[in-house]
Amino acid sequence: MAPRIVIVGGGMAGMSCALHLTQHSVTHKLITDQLGGRIQYDRDLHANFGAFFVMESYKWAQEVVQRDVRLDPTDTSFVQPDGSVIAAKSFRMALLLPQMFKVARVIDKFSKHYESFKTRCLTMPFHVAASSDPFISRLVSLPAKQFAKEAGIERAIATIVGNFVYSCTGVGVADINTLDFLNVCLALRQPIYKFIFDLPGMESRLNNSLVYDSIDSLQRDGNVSTLKMRSGVTYEADILVLATPASVTQRLLGIPEIRRVSKVYTYYLEGKVKQKFTHTGTNVFHQGYDIIATTKMAGNTLMLYTCKPKTDFSEVCESSRVLKMVPFEKAMYVSGNVLLAQDYAANILIAGDHNGLGLEPTAISGIYAANRIVSALARRTPATAKIALSTP
Ligand SMILES: Cc1cc2nc3c(=O)[nH]c(=O)nc-3n(C[C@H](O)[C@H](O)[C@H](O)COP(=O)(O)OP(=O)(O)OC[C@H]3O[C@@H](n4cnc5c(N)ncnc54)[C@H](O)[C@@H]3O)c2cc1C
Repeated sequence: MAPRIVIVGGGMAGMSCALHLTQHSVTHKLITDQLGGRIQYDRDLHANFGAFFVMESYKWAQEVVQRDVRLDPTDTSFVQPDGSVIAAKSFRMALLLPQMFKVARVIDKFSKHYESFKTRCLTMPFHVAASSDPFISRLVSLPAKQFAKEAGIERAIATIVGNFVYSCTGVGVADINTLDFLNVCLALRQPIYKFIFDLPGMESRLNNSLVYDSIDSLQRDGNVSTLKMRSGVTYEADILVLATPASVTQRLLGIPEIRRVSKVYTYYLEGKVKQKFTHTGTNVFHQGYDIIATTKMAGNTLMLYTCKPKTDFSEVCESSRVLKMVPFEKAMYVSGNVLLAQDYAANILIAGDHNGLGLEPTAISGIYAANRIVSALARRTPATAKIALSTP
């Protein structure tokens, strides 16, 4: 009998895992209550309510989403705690250039290490891949604030970079580790693009493997996992990949601790923006504000991101009307230093953004799970009909 391989969760991690298994002709099921997860592209509005951009270096994520227009970083203003605004092309920014050059050097050094780290993560668990480079390994547990002090870039963080990190994560620099901090900062040094997610296209690429359902509970007996679904159907898996959000994975497996998660509420508004926010298309706010960022859309519409569900838009808008809102009560798992083992238990793998932020690390975690399965299948002979993941 062919081994029963089941992926639960159809976000970036689950889709990447499924596509990779398909490339290797491995039969599997992808069970999810919704496809895309925190990728929430609205085709009619041509707007992303969840993940907003991909970086040029996002090779694996771009197998799932398609690059759209390039974003212009110089079309951004940074809103300061005193309410003043520093536009990217302004005299105040020019005064910060020496600090920003330092930031650029730091990011470039990180980028070299990080690219090889990502490559290792395709075939090694996160903590093993990190521990084989002392530079990366240190960043995993180093608070970003401490790193900023060491690198002498505190002024850039307080005025510009901190706002950008807040706009990408929903938390301040004080709440994240240096690996995540620098990972986000990569976007300051390379082209970034809006993206499109073709949901019907993905459904057809996943073809016969896709099942829409929701897992209620999970039981394990030896190497076999039994999944009870909301529909009443039960599935058995010889290998299970849990690509559900970390909080769902935590509940299903009874994991004691995961990273803390930020909240983000994405609004699509029609309205008139206050004069001081019209100089650039995008405004990113200091973390003292509930509003995280605004970005101009077609006509008189804008996307507005906040970290509180009830936000007073009068801070940025003279008049506004909500056309659509998508809440992410669990947006990004960015705070704290808990690392979840991807090879969680005998024949259970975990994939997702539980250890690292963003679409590319998430895609890589899904491909890692697929690679583990492909190599387990390659080792299997008729004499050893049972499939078992080896120790990584
Ligand atoms: C507002 C916002 C903006 C962001 N911006 C960016 C950005 O610009 N660039 C970037 O790189 N990253 C960004 N991110 C982060 C990025 O979106 C995530 O890191 C990534 O999408 C996580 O993918 P995932 O597969 O781990 O989880 P998810 O996308 O959450 O996927 C989990 C899947 O599991 C399914 N599921 C959940 N429970 C069950 C269940 N019980 N049974 C079956 N299925 C279940 C869900 O439906 C979903 O399909 C952003 C996130 C948010 C929220």
